[in-house]
Order: sequence, then C-alpha cells, then structure tokens
Amino acid sequence: MQNKTEVVIVGGGTAGWITAYGLSKHLAKFLNITLIESDQIGTVGVGEATIPSMKVFHRLVGIDEQEFMRETQATFKLGISLENWGNIDDKYIHSFGTIGQGSWISEFHEYWLEANDQGFGGSLDDYCLELKAAKENKFALSVNKNPLLYAYHLNATAYAKYLRKKSERLGVKRVEGRISDIRKCSQTGDIVSLHLDNGRVIKGDFFIDCSGFRGLLIGETLGVEYLDWSHWLRSNRAIAVQTELNSPPVPYTRAISHSAGWQWQIPLQSRMGNGIIYCDKYLSDEDAKKTLFDNLPGEPRSEPNMLRFSTGRRKKFWHKNCVAVGLSSGFLEPLESTSIHLVTTSVIRLMRLFPFAGKGNNKELEEEYNSQTLNEMESVRDFVILHYKLTQRSDSEYWNDYRTMDVPDSLSHRLEIFRKHGYTSSDGLFHVPSWIQVMLGQGLYPERHHRASGILPPAGLKEQMTKIKNHIDMSLKQMPSHEDFIKQYCAAPSQAVK
Ligand SMILES: Cc1cc2nc3c(=O)[nH]c(=O)nc-3n(C[C@H](O)[C@H](O)[C@H](O)COP(=O)(O)OP(=O)(O)OC[C@H]3O[C@@H](n4cnc5c(N)ncnc54)[C@H](O)[C@@H]3O)c2cc1C
Repeated sequence: MQNKTEVVIVGGGTAGWITAYGLSKHLAKFLNITLIESDQIGTVGVGEATIPSMKVFHRLVGIDEQEFMRETQATFKLGISLENWGNIDDKYIHSFGTIGQGSWISEFHEYWLEANDQGFGGSLDDYCLELKAAKENKFALSVNKNPLLYAYHLNATAYAKYLRKKSERLGVKRVEGRISDIRKCSQTGDIVSLHLDNGRVIKGDFFIDCSGFRGLLIGETLGVEYLDWSHWLRSNRAIAVQTELNSPPVPYTRAISHSAGWQWQIPLQSRMGNGIIYCDKYLSDEDAKKTLFDNLPGEPRSEPNMLRFSTGRRKKFWHKNCVAVGLSSGFLEPLESTSIHLVTTSVIRLMRLFPFAGKGNNKELEEEYNSQTLNEMESVRDFVILHYKLTQRSDSEYWNDYRTMDVPDSLSHRLEIFRKHGYTSSDGLFHVPSWIQVMLGQGLYPERHHRASGILPPAGLKEQMTKIKNHIDMSLKQMPSHEDFIKQYCAAPSQAVK
C-alpha cells in the first residue's frame, strides 16, 4: 500500500469545510487531511442562498436533508424574485422549475409565443409549478411523485460548523492558528510547509487554498494573477446585516435593485439575512448603508458587516501543488447565488481528477481542471451580466452604464439570436428556462419564433397548454404552506418558525 497523500486545506469557511468533508467522505483511504483555520481572522460570514445543485452534492456526500436543515436553520428556495431590474416597479421570479413541456424540435416558450400570437398564452408563470408555489408561499418535496426543483437558504456559520463536526468524525485534523510564513521548494516552486504564529509547522504534498478573497497560497505565495471582470460586473462592495423575521419565511430569495446597487433578503427559520451590493464609483458607503437600512424588513440584530471584493477569477485555479477553491479562486457577485455551487463542483472535479500520480506528473490533470473550471465560471458570468445588460432603467448613471456596456461575445450572440428568432440553448449551469425567465422577465420579447407549434392544429395547441396549466393548478392545491412544511419536516430545535 502506497503512503497516503498529505492534503492541507487552508481556511475553514464554507469552502474549506465543504472541501474537507467531500474529500474525507470519499478519498479518506488515500489521504490524510489537515485543515488550518484562524478564529482570529474569521470567515467572510455571508453566502446563505444556494441553487438546486446543492441537493445533488449533498446526495453524493451522504448528507441527510432533514438533519442538515435543522442544524442550519434552513428554509427552502424555489427561485429568486428579481424586483426593479427590468424597470422600476417591475418584478419577476427566476424559478428553478421547468416551464411547460417542449418537444425535441422546439422549446416550450416557442409554443407559448405562438399561443400568445393566437391570443390564449396567458402568463408564462402559469406553466411552472415551482414559480406558482413560490408566489403562493407553498412548498412540497414532490407532488404526485413528481419532485420539485428546489434549493436552500442556510445559516453559513452553522453550515461550516455542521460540516466540521462531520469531517472531524471522518478523521480530518483541524489546526487552529494563523499562517505567517509559507515555504516553497527552491527547485520546483511547489509549496512545502506552512508556518503558524504559534510555532507549529504543517507540511503537505498537496494544498487546497480556501483562504478567502486573499488567496494566501494561490495568489500571495504562488503569484497566480487575478483577472479582473469589473468592466462587466462593477460591484466591489457589500454591507450585510441580519434582521428579525417578522413574517413566515418565503420560499425564495429577494433581489431588489435600487438606483445604484441591489439588496438581498434571504429568509432563514430564525432570522432574515440582508445586504446591499454596490460599486463605490456610484454610491458611497454612507449612502449604501442608508439605502440598506431604509429598506430593511425588520429590526437589525447584528452589526453591519462591510465587505470589499473585486469580480474576476484566477488565471489558473490549479497551479503546481495547489488548487484554489471558493473566494480565493474568483468571485462573481451573489445575484444568482452561484458561489457555493462553484465550490461544490470544484470539489467534485478535484475528486475526479485527484493527482494520485505524485509530484511533477499531473500536468494533464491540472490543465483539464483549469479548463473545466474556466468554462463553468464564464457561463455563470454571462448569466449574471445578462440581468444588468437587459435593464431598461435610465434613472441613474449606474443603470445607463450597465445598459449601454459591451458584453462578452458569447452573451452578445445569445441575445441576438433570441431577439431575432426566439431561440436559446442550455449552457453549462443554466438551462433554457432560466435564460428565458430572465430575458422575458426583463422585457426582451423576440421578433419571431420557431414554427413547430404550427404542426399542431390551433385547437390542439390550446388543449395542450390548458392541460399543463390545469395540472399545475391541481398540484398547487395539494401543497401545504412553506411554513407548515418546515414545521413538520425540519424545524430547528430552538428556532420554531414564527
Ligand atoms: C456579499 C456576499 C454575499 C454572498 N452571498 C452568497 C450567496 O448568497 N450564495 C452563495 O453561494 N455565495 C455567496 N457568497 C459567496 C460565499 O460567501 C463564499 O463563496 C463562501 O462563503 C466561501 O468563502 P470561503 O470559504 O472561500 O472564504 P472565507 O469564508 O473568507 O474563509 C476563509 C478562511 O481562511 C482562513 N484564513 C485566511 N487567512 C488565513 C491565515 N493566514 N491563516 C489561517 N487561516 C486563514 C480564515 O480564517 C477562514 O477560515 C457571497 C459573498 C459575498 C462577499
């Protein structure tokens, strides 16, 4: 039996503990895992809305949904309510559900566009169960054996603690201390050892940088450049604050835009997470704080947490004997709650491409890892930019700049083909229903659409559409309220839902 690989994870935030748990769950036979974190430095302390892929990750690593939800005061999330994005007072939901039922030749929205032309389409929202359930504050895991597509809102600090407990049970060694020096091999440039303030030295074969925005290993030690995307996504500041929960938690995140920046509301069982995302070029810290506090849904119950960031990514995510996971690898603002998703896919990717060959023999794995991670980040980037580019708001310099900016070629092409022909395709993380909901939700109505619906006689199209709508309405009637569902399924012990 070969010696085990010594893996050292730097950082005990969401990224660090997800990585530690994933690796220890599946590769413990081959690895000794040590995680270093510093209570003195702490974690970023935000990041509480997720997307449905988290459920898949939990299944892969054997996390019990009810236990996890109780421990993290989690609620369910069926989508995001995007308010004031297309125009002031506009509102639409980007839900996680499928919309209607398309065919191999044509997506459902193309049938719906035809139905609209014929005067009977109604609202696209009526064809998505998750979306209607979100609007009516209802929830169920499945209806008539058809599972719903959903994600979670969770308490980030409790989630890291929960994963820590589970990881330590699987043998992960946690070391408390602040890393003050890092030594590299003079010949290969690989990282060799981490030196802590308290005198401890931790040696390793492979290092995972989960040290947050700072990128202690990947950036500061190995010198991997940070490529800036702030010409597309300008926000560089956030203020986060928790408030009391004054009404039952809704099963969706709210993203409410203001004249410069936007505000999130993430309901947990025990409290509401709030924050504002903005760019200091358009809004001062004072004004941002005022905007946030003027629009809070309850009494503050924490001090405001002021955060700075820059949107972008590392030039390489895996370099030498180090992989960056989490904020150290790059950051896209949390409008579509994609960061934790990117952490989980990075961990899965790393498990699939783990460098068992030993030092110096992993070039192909490194290249593959970097190329897959880049594709994923770029597709998420385009989807987030879409929300800004498609605004029709002209009430501030902020929105004017976004509306008139150049976007990446990949997004430009997508917008043009949809605008002219009503066509769009799934890409990476986001599938057709997501692109459609945002494009139509923000007022991009195509000039024409595919004619496949014409194969059906008009009565047939109407019949099909009515059938889908009725089925959704009947399913909705069988669903309990989100609040009741949480109470009976996963109420946190001392956090009964108000
Ligand atoms: C405003 C905002 C809102 C967000 N909202 C969402 C959201 O809704 N959904 C979502 O998916 N994501 C969101 N994110 C992203 C999410 O917060 C992060 O992806 C997630 O928390 C992972 O962070 P991390 O573990 O990489 O870094 P951190 O939480 O910063 O952890 C870094 C760790 O490294 C340790 N460390 C650093 N330096 C040293 C040192 N010298 N010695 C020892 N230890 C060290 C720290 O102690 C800490 O344990 C948001 C981010 C921001 C900024």
